[in-house]
Amino acid sequence: MTGRTHDLAAFTSLVAVVCLNPPATISLSTLLLSLLANQIGGVLPDIDQPTAPFWRNLPIGNIFGRTFGKLAGGHRFITHSVLGLAITGFGFQALLTFLGPILGHADTGFIWWAFIIGLISHLLMDSFTKEGVPLLLPIPWHFGIPPLKALRITTGKKVEGLIVFPLLFIAATTLFISHHGRFITLLHSIR
Ligand SMILES: [Zn+2]
Repeated sequence: MTGRTHDLAAFTSLVAVVCLNPPATISLSTLLLSLLANQIGGVLPDIDQPTAPFWRNLPIGNIFGRTFGKLAGGHRFITHSVLGLAITGFGFQALLTFLGPILGHADTGFIWWAFIIGLISHLLMDSFTKEGVPLLLPIPWHFGIPPLKALRITTGKKVEGLIVFPLLFIAATTLFISHHGRFITLLHSIR
């Protein structure tokens, strides 16, 4: 999937989880940092390819991207597995603990979950593509939904832009409208 589809998928997943299990209150710093962490988590697994937006925005990102891609085993390898998810999750937890003193009253637990939801949404979305994802590495088996490869979609092609992206947009909008009371209550709780 492309970066913008992953961005929207991460956001829609976060909205869905908040609808199911809304926090009683939220601070402005928690809200903003959660949205940022969610978007980073949504595209982070693709840092294993030099063309990833993450590397493109750095001056010599291409070189770093290629080096990191090789270290990570190439595109759609460890960063697209449960093992990679666990390592990244621990790493992000350590980062939040380190940054704790400057994060003030921000709810680091909520921010961590927003990040993990972004990561999981990335693996889920990539599983709809022909390449699938090697979820159980080191077992090199690529999982896909549906299991029959011919029925899956190709990244960046029409089905993604004309069907998947609009469906995610409709899902996020529907969730907002159907649970608007919860979101209004949550926004009123911002302090
Ligand atoms: Zn990916």
